[in-house]
Amino acid sequence: MRIDILTLFPPMFEVPFSFGIFQRAVAGGLVSLNTVDIRDYTHDKHHTADDYPYGGGAGMVLKPEPIFEAVEAIKRDAGPEADDLPVILLTPQGRPFSQSIARELSGHRHLVFICGHYEGVDERVCEHLVTDEISIGDYVLTGGELPAMVVIDAVVRLIPGVLGSEESPQEDSHADGLLEYPQYTRPAGFRGWTVPEVLLSGNHARIAKWRREQIIKRTLERRPELLDKASLGREDKQLVKRLTTERSQVNKDRES
Ligand code: SAM
Repeated sequence: MRIDILTLFPPMFEVPFSFGIFQRAVAGGLVSLNTVDIRDYTHDKHHTADDYPYGGGAGMVLKPEPIFEAVEAIKRDAGPEADDLPVILLTPQGRPFSQSIARELSGHRHLVFICGHYEGVDERVCEHLVTDEISIGDYVLTGGELPAMVVIDAVVRLIPGVLGSEESPQEDSHADGLLEYPQYTRPAGFRGWTVPEVLLSGNHARIAKWRREQIIKRTLERRPELLDKASLGREDKQLVKRLTTERSQVNKDRES
């Protein structure tokens, strides 16, 4: 996958993607990351990439010309594939990012990200250049660089071959709409806290059953709304029913 990132601050991307899984993916040719300095596409001697907002108000707005020119240069380079090229603006006004959007994006061979700054980008960029707008949450950051890193990290780890076989993303939280079961490692006893006996039993069927129950229990406790959309088997549904009844009984006992 090729990833182009339009930013006013290319050096911000040097460190986060130079380690571990991402660095291996780049070295192995699975991903190529290219930062594009928006200022390289300005034409005045001060490399002006932003200007005052029409109508007044605080802050500056990123100008449309350098952003359009930078994306057009990427598209020329991409050749015939440019027609389907996702051009993604990071913005708090975009669709909320999720594991399913990460999965969707991981199926593309080429992605372009635009990082806004200051008050954001000229609306004509949103209307006539970008194909998608993504938000990483209902809060406002200084720039689109950190959101781009979040999205890119989540997308890249889903590209086949990026994670080693021992690091399967299939069982991660949100992979199938539920939270993952709790994980433990050595030592089996630590400061008097022990690992659940079932995990030491070597009985794979029991371990699988325990993990599935933990997935349901944990999701019900922490993110019950996820259960409404998840695809649950008969035993899962029975467990949800039992746990919900137990919980309401505990609440009743507390109140009385
Ligand atoms: N004035 C804009 C608004 O109210 O929608 C916010 C601008 S914000 C200070 C500057 C830039 O940071 C945005 O253009 C965007 O690229 C990025 N940004 C900030 N919060 C974000 C979020 N939650 N998700 C994605 N990008 C975000």
